[in-house]
Amino acid sequence: MKDYITVIGGGLAGCEVAYKIATNGIKVKLYEMKPVKFSPAHYSENLAEIVCSNSFKSNLHTNACGLLKEELRFLNSLLISVADSVSVPAGQALAVDREKFSKIVTEKIKENKNIEVINKEIGGNDIETIEQMTKEGIVIIATGPLTTDNLSKQIASITGTDKLYFYDAAAPIVSKESINMGIAFYGDRYTQERAKNEDIEEWKKRQNKIGSYINLPMNKQEYENFWNELVNAEVVELHKFEKKEIFEGCMPLEVMAKRGIDTLRFGPLKPVGFTDPRTRYASICTCTVKTR
Ligand SMILES: Cc1cc2nc3c(=O)[nH]c(=O)nc-3n(C[C@H](O)[C@H](O)[C@H](O)COP(=O)(O)OP(=O)(O)OC[C@H]3O[C@@H](n4cnc5c(N)ncnc54)[C@H](O)[C@@H]3O)c2cc1C
Repeated sequence: MKDYITVIGGGLAGCEVAYKIATNGIKVKLYEMKPVKFSPAHYSENLAEIVCSNSFKSNLHTNACGLLKEELRFLNSLLISVADSVSVPAGQALAVDREKFSKIVTEKIKENKNIEVINKEIGGNDIETIEQMTKEGIVIIATGPLTTDNLSKQIASITGTDKLYFYDAAAPIVSKESINMGIAFYGDRYTQERAKNEDIEEWKKRQNKIGSYINLPMNKQEYENFWNELVNAEVVELHKFEKKEIFEGCMPLEVMAKRGIDTLRFGPLKPVGFTDPRTRYASICTCTVKTR
């Protein structure tokens, strides 16, 4: 049995697990194929690259995402401590400067004496398979949704399944010039909630700050027009490798809308957490756009 643990993949999961093992005094060999080979979505040579949204979602303790992050802080998570140190304004959410985030995580991993980073694709041209590796010691596979084809085949053969899926939905981009700021307003959802350990004066001051999100309030008629346009809109043609299978946890907006006229206004466009400053009432629906 080898005296180290093998971690394959130096993304978010691989870095967290490698660091946790190493800080417990156990040696780690961390295999990361970059910069020798890049997946279609990875560009940076750094570890823990964030490929899409820079938001880690809510920091509030009143929802599961916020609680999970707080638990990770208690467990001395490397990624959350780095994320907190490079956070950017995003209301009650934890969003990060992605370049700084990956750079600092890479430095922390590389300066840890118990971690050896090896830039190599596992399942590539070499003959070593994960099946052989697991016979010699503990192997953690953290190669993410864009695991290379050869490694995917090996995982499929070990697990006896040919169904390894990755679901994604592209975020729509709204150009700022197209937004009528006479109607839209800046505001962060749930700013009225006090954060953990937040002083009452700090909380009051925060209420007067300009929010990080632009919100587009709609009345009943506007919402119905929006819904009609959305469900009848032209959609992107799928690539040959894409299958039209829907993951309930990350669903395209137009698919959600097609489930019923009220689905969006009880879901991502729910008009709660703030009021329309023009009327001081909640609107029928609020479409929130994250500013970049
Ligand atoms: C286009 C796209 C958009 C996404 N958008 C979001 C989003 O908005 N929000 C969200 O929460 N999640 C999003 N995801 C999912 C996102 O990938 C995960 O949240 C997160 O990155 C998963 O972390 P991970 O460590 O599992 O994988 P990754 O961060 O992908 O890390 C895996 C690492 O393994 C390496 N690797 C792969 N195969 C091998 C191999 N054979 N040998 C050695 N190294 C290998 C890769 O180079 C990579 O560095 C998106 C993913 C993609 C691809």
